[in-house]
Amino acid sequence: MAKKQFKAESKRLLEMMINSIYTQREIFLRELISNASDAIDKIYYKALTDDQLVFNKDDYFIKITPNKADRTLTITDTGIGMTKEELENNLGVIAKSGSLAFKNEIEAKDGHNIIGQFGVGFYSAFMVADVVTVTSRALGSDEAYQWESKGADGYTITPAEKDTVGTEIVLKIKPNTEEDQYDEFLEEYRLRAIIKKYSDFIRYPIKMDVKTQRPKEGDDNEFEEVQEEQTLNSMVPIWRKNKGELTDADYENFYNEKRYGFDKPLKHIHVKADGAVVYNAILFIPEHTPFDYYTKEYEKGLELYSNGVLIMEKCGDLLPDYFSFVKGMVDSEDLSLNISREMLQHDRQLTLIAKNIKNKIKSALQSMLKDEREKYEKFYQSFGRGLKFGVYNDYGMHKDDLQDLLLFTSSKEKKLVTLDEYVSRMPEDQKYIYYAAGDSIDRLEKLPQTEMVLDKGYEILYFTDDVDEFAIKMLMKYKEKEFKSVSSGDLGIESDADKKENEAEENDNKELFSAMEGILAGKVKSVKASKRLKSHPVCLSAEGEVSIEMEKILKAMPN
Ligand code: ADP
Ligand code: MG
Repeated sequence: MAKKQFKAESKRLLEMMINSIYTQREIFLRELISNASDAIDKIYYKALTDDQLVFNKDDYFIKITPNKADRTLTITDTGIGMTKEELENNLGVIAKSGSLAFKNEIEAKDGHNIIGQFGVGFYSAFMVADVVTVTSRALGSDEAYQWESKGADGYTITPAEKDTVGTEIVLKIKPNTEEDQYDEFLEEYRLRAIIKKYSDFIRYPIKMDVKTQRPKEGDDNEFEEVQEEQTLNSMVPIWRKNKGELTDADYENFYNEKRYGFDKPLKHIHVKADGAVVYNAILFIPEHTPFDYYTKEYEKGLELYSNGVLIMEKCGDLLPDYFSFVKGMVDSEDLSLNISREMLQHDRQLTLIAKNIKNKIKSALQSMLKDEREKYEKFYQSFGRGLKFGVYNDYGMHKDDLQDLLLFTSSKEKKLVTLDEYVSRMPEDQKYIYYAAGDSIDRLEKLPQTEMVLDKGYEILYFTDDVDEFAIKMLMKYKEKEFKSVSSGDLGIESDADKKENEAEENDNKELFSAMEGILAGKVKSVKASKRLKSHPVCLSAEGEVSIEMEKILKAMPN
C-alpha cells in the first residue's frame, strides 16, 4: 500500500506536536476523548431524527485501555465511525475548526508553549506516540479500514476487520528518553487524573478496567485484587450543575475544552432561566481580542443545544452584533431538534432566549464595571470599539443598552471615565460635555482649541478612536447634557459681553477679515474673532454637525 503524504500545513503542525514541551502533552487525551464523544453525539443525533435507529444509552461509551507490556494506549468509542474516505479526509489534512484556528494563532504568535490552551485535535496524539493506528467502521457499513501513521512522513489506509461500528485508536507510546518520560501515560492513576481534569463533563461514560482491592469472599479481613470496569467521569454537563458546585477552574476548563478562545476568560455568566423561557447557558467574556475580531471573517454566535444535544455550532441569532465577543453555549428543552437555520430565525422561543441573554450580558458588564473596574478596563481595551460601533449602528437603536458601558479617556489624569462619572463631577456652570477628537492624546493636549475649556476647569474627553465621534453624535446627549466638540464654533463658554466684543472687533477690522477670507477662499468658510484663544494666535473651528475630524474620516472612506 502506497504511503500518502500529509498536506504541507498538516506537516508543520505535526512537527510542532512531535516537539511539544513536556507539560502540554497530557492534553492529547482530552482531544481524543472529545473526538470520541463527538462521534457518539453524531449517532445520538441521528437516532433522534431517524426512526430506524434506536439509541440505547448503555451501548454508547468510550473506553481507555493502557497496556504496559505492549506500551500501547487504546481509546475505543462506539460512535459513528469513519468510512475509508472519511479517514482520508478527516485525518489526512487539517481542515477542521480546532486545528485550523490553532494553526492561525501559531502563525501569528510563534508559540511552542501555548499548545496546551488550544484544541489541537487528532494530531496531538503524536505528542506521546510514535505510531498511531486508527481502525474504524462507519455506521451503515460492514467494511472497516485502518489508518496508520508514524508522523510526518505520511500515512497508509488498508482494509481491516472490526465487528462493531465505531473507532479504535491505538497509540504506541514513545519510549522514555533521558529528558522525557512517557511511561506515565500508561499508568492508571495518571490517566484517571487527566480524564477528571479535562473530560469530566463528557456526557458518555469514559470507562477503564482498574484494579481494586476487595474483601475476600467469606473473610472480611483479607483482601484480593480484582479487575473491575469503572466509569471515570461524572458525566453531568457543567451547565446542568448548580453554580455552587462549580469553581472558576471548572468554568475555565470548560472554556478550554470547548475552544471558545485561546486565553483565559475574564468572566463567566452561568444562566439557569426557568421563567417564560427555560434554558441553561454558560457565557464567557474573553480577555483578548480574537485575531480576526475586527474583520469580516469573524463569526459571532453561541453553541445551541436542544436538551443536551448540539444542534448548531454557531447560532448568530443568539447575540446582538455589539456583544459578538461573547462565547459560550445555550441549552434549551423548548427547541425542536430538527429545526433548520431558516426556521430558527423565526423561532419565538429563540427570540426570547436571545433577548434574555442580551440582558444578562449587559448586567454582567455593568456589575463588572461597578465592582471590578480593572477587569472592566481590560475588557474595554479588547472590545470597547465594538460597543461604540454598537451605539452608532442601526441608527442608534441600541444606545440605551450601551451608553453606560462606554469609557473615554478624560483630560483629568488621563484616566478612563464613564459618561456618568463625567457628568456627575461637572462644575455647576458647565453646560456641555466637551470632547476633542484626533489621532493621539498627546496631540489633542496641544490643540489650541482645548485651552479655554481646560482653563475653565472643565474636563475634556479625548476621542482617539475614529468611531468615537460618530457614536457620540448618535447619542446626542447624556443625562440632558449635549456633547460639544472643542473645535465647534460656539463653545458655550463665552459670555454675551465676550460675544459683543468679538463682533465689535470684526466690525472694526472688516477689511482685514475679508482679506483673510479672500486668501483662504475654498479652505475656510469664514474668519472670526474669538476669546477662546490664549497662547495660540489662531485655530480652526467647525460649524454645524460635522466636525473637522469627522470630515477627515468621511473623506477617507471609500464611497
Ligand atoms: P475537530 O475535532 O476539531 O474536527 P480533529 O483533528 O480532532 O478536529 O478531528 C478531525 C476529524 O476527524 C473530526 O472532525 C471527525 O470528523 C474525525 N474524527 C476524529 N476522531 C474521530 C472518532 N473517534 N470517530 C469519528 N470521527 C472522528
Ligand atoms: Mg477534535
